Amino acid sequence: MRPDANLGELPLRPELVGEEPYGAPQLDVPVRLNVNENPYPPGPEIRAEMASAVAAESLNRYPDREAWALREALADYLGHGLIPLQIWAANGSNEVMTHLLQGFGGPGRKVLSFTPTYSMYPEYARNTHTTYVTEPRLPDYSLDADTVLKAIAEHEPAVVVITTPNNPTGTTTPLEVVEAVLTGTEAIVVVDEAYQEFARHPEQTALTLLPRFGNLVVSRTMSKAFALAGGRVGYLAASPAIVDACRIVRLPYHLSAQTQAVARVALAHSAELLAQVDELRVTRDQMLVRLPQLGVEVIDSDANFCLFGPFADRHDVWQRLLERGVLVRETGPAGYLRVSAGTPAETQAFYAALAEVMEER
Ligand SMILES: *Cc1c(COP(=O)(O)O)cnc(C)c1O
Repeated sequence: MRPDANLGELPLRPELVGEEPYGAPQLDVPVRLNVNENPYPPGPEIRAEMASAVAAESLNRYPDREAWALREALADYLGHGLIPLQIWAANGSNEVMTHLLQGFGGPGRKVLSFTPTYSMYPEYARNTHTTYVTEPRLPDYSLDADTVLKAIAEHEPAVVVITTPNNPTGTTTPLEVVEAVLTGTEAIVVVDEAYQEFARHPEQTALTLLPRFGNLVVSRTMSKAFALAGGRVGYLAASPAIVDACRIVRLPYHLSAQTQAVARVALAHSAELLAQVDELRVTRDQMLVRLPQLGVEVIDSDANFCLFGPFADRHDVWQRLLERGVLVRETGPAGYLRVSAGTPAETQAFYAALAEVMEER
C-alpha cells in the first residue's frame, strides 16, 4: 500500500465507510453553552489537591484494575445501601455504555432507545456491532410504559435505554414507568441518569429499584453535576452480576491511576462541587420563563439545558448566535436548538444575543 493511501483505499470495516468522527464543534468563543458542561470549574484548592493526589501515584506500576477505592467512594456518594460490588466505573459514561453493549449487545442483538435522544447511542451500538433500533417518544417527548413495552415486544432488544432526564429534551420519565417496564421485561434496562442531580426531584431515582430488579442498570456521570467533564469518569450501579459482565469486556487497566486519583478527590469534595447545581437548576427554571418572553417555545426541562425553537432555519439562528460569541447546539427535533445553563453572565449574554437575532429575523 502506498504510504499516502487515503481511508477509502484501506480495508476499513464496511459499516464505517463514509462515517465521520463524533463531535459537537469545539470552537473557542466567549460563551460556550453547547455541550451541557458545568460552567464552574473545581476551585483552586481542590485542583491543587488533585495535582498532589496524581503526584503521589507511583506511575511506573499499573493502576488498580478494579478501581476499588473509587468504586467505594462512588457507592458512598450514591447511598441507597449500595456496595462497591454493585458499582462500575470507566472513562466517561460513554465507555460504561460501551462495556454494557460489549457484554449484552453484539452481533445479532439489538439496543432500543426512544427518540429524540442522545446522539452518541448509535455510535456505541455501531462500535459494538449491535443493531440500533428506535421508537419515537410521545408528542410531548415523554414516555409511558405502554410505549416502551410495545416497542420491546416488537423489537425484542437485548438492551433498552431510557434516558431521564432525556437529552436533548430535558424530559423526565416517572419512576412508575421505569418500574412497569422492568416488571414487563427480562432485557437489560439501562436508565441513563446523566442529569439526575439537576432534576426537580433528584431523589426519584431508579437507584431505588435496584433491590428488586436484577436487569436494571443506572448510569451516571461525573461530567455534568460534578463539573469533571475533563476528568472522564462515568459509572453505573447494578447487580454484581452485571458489573461482572463489564469486568470481562473492559480493557485491562482501562482507568488510569491519574483518573482514579482525581475522581476520588472530587468525590471527597462532593458537597463543594455540587454546590453550584442548585444555582444551575434556578438558571434552568429562569430559562423556561425567559425564552418564551423572547418569542420562542421551550420544552420543559429537568436537566441543565433547554431545548428551544422551532426555527424555519435553525442553522441560521445558530450561526447568528455564534457571530455574537454564543455557541449553542444544533441537535434534536428539526428546527430546535439546545442551550446549556451557564453562569449568570453567560446566560445574560445568550439572552441578549437571542433577542438581537429575533429582532433581525
Ligand atoms: C453528557 C451525557 C452523558 C455523559 O457522558 P460522559 O461520557 O460521562 O461525559 C451520558 N448520557 C447522556 C444522555 C449525556 O447527555
